[in-house]
Amino acid sequence: MEPFVYNQNPSRVIFGSGTLKKLPEELTRQNLTKPLILSTPEQVSQAENVKALLTDFQVAGIFSRATMHTPTEITDEALEFMKSASADCLISIGGGSTIGLGKAMSIRTGLPHICIPTTYAGSEMTPILGETAAGVKKTRSDPKILPGTVIYDVDLTMSLPVGMSSTSGVNAIAHSVEALYATNANPVTSLLALEGIRALAVALPQIVENSSSAEARQLALYGAWLCGACLGTVGMSLHHKLCHTLGGTFNLPHAQTHTIVLPHALAYNFPGLSPDVQKRLGEAFPESNGDPIVGLNVLLEKLKVERGLKAYGMKEEDIDKAADLAVANPYANPRKVERDGVREVIRRAWAGEPAK
Ligand code: NAD
Repeated sequence: MEPFVYNQNPSRVIFGSGTLKKLPEELTRQNLTKPLILSTPEQVSQAENVKALLTDFQVAGIFSRATMHTPTEITDEALEFMKSASADCLISIGGGSTIGLGKAMSIRTGLPHICIPTTYAGSEMTPILGETAAGVKKTRSDPKILPGTVIYDVDLTMSLPVGMSSTSGVNAIAHSVEALYATNANPVTSLLALEGIRALAVALPQIVENSSSAEARQLALYGAWLCGACLGTVGMSLHHKLCHTLGGTFNLPHAQTHTIVLPHALAYNFPGLSPDVQKRLGEAFPESNGDPIVGLNVLLEKLKVERGLKAYGMKEEDIDKAADLAVANPYANPRKVERDGVREVIRRAWAGEPAK
């Protein structure tokens, strides 16, 4: 075995069905009394349910204006609200957008942040924050951004629409795929990555068949946790860089973009992977015949997801602009990042062609 470094992120995870009920106990354990609850406008009823559980606490209020890409003007508004209500901690209930707001507030104020994730995006397990100021999205990493406690309650994911469950789940799989070939990959993260991919690759088609299957939902959320932990511990490569560029520049939806790009980015990188990683990735996807690109194509067909970025409004003439941006700054990748190859990845993803 090669020598390695493994940084374990210090967060407390409470996982299961009905675990939201543990929230009062968790606040008491941390001596917190005045939580501010964060959500999107669409999930305000879930935020109200959280508030209803906290009758023994002085809830500082609900701020329900969390939105995509964490714009700093919304963060400023939420901070004003937080100060006027003298909150002593933050509870974010929702997907990556709401958790992003909680992270942006907690890094500015030092307040403890408890996350209750309701998608599979994985932000709750990472010390990474992406924020948008004056239309430009910038990402930073700081151990203080990592939320202290994460409560995964499978029951809260039952309402995640099937389409969003599929794309959010593939977004999670993407973290694990790239974790396996990260420059700081290590045996522990790789174990989590493979288990995360296996869990989601089994659970997601079951959710498409029956979105109220508690077993499938549990397996998917478990996989999402593991994949999020991978994103939080090792560096990402071409796939994540491409999705960041495409999402930020052309305002494409986050999870859907990850879903469309992943098979193409993996096909590009595959020749640069070690035989061991190639084999392990092939084994992680069912019906892959040992080829993870085949496995991913089969999975995406079962999930009946959109395959072309053009469906989300990206224009053909944007392909060259995206390719230029994707190769503008160097970053670690298992295969040399060359403009022609990357352009072809983007073109295929734009057109919705199967990966090969
Ligand atoms: P999201 O948080 O934007 O949610 C999408 C929509 O689904 C919202 O309207 C939300 O209210 C709704 N929703 C969420 N859970 C629901 C549920 N259980 N039932 C019904 N509706 C529900 O989507 P996302 O994909 O989770 O997050 C995307 C954002 O997170 C992006 O901005 C991305 O950059 C960020 N992100 C950051 C990290 C990180 O480590 N910093 C990791 C992953 C994603």
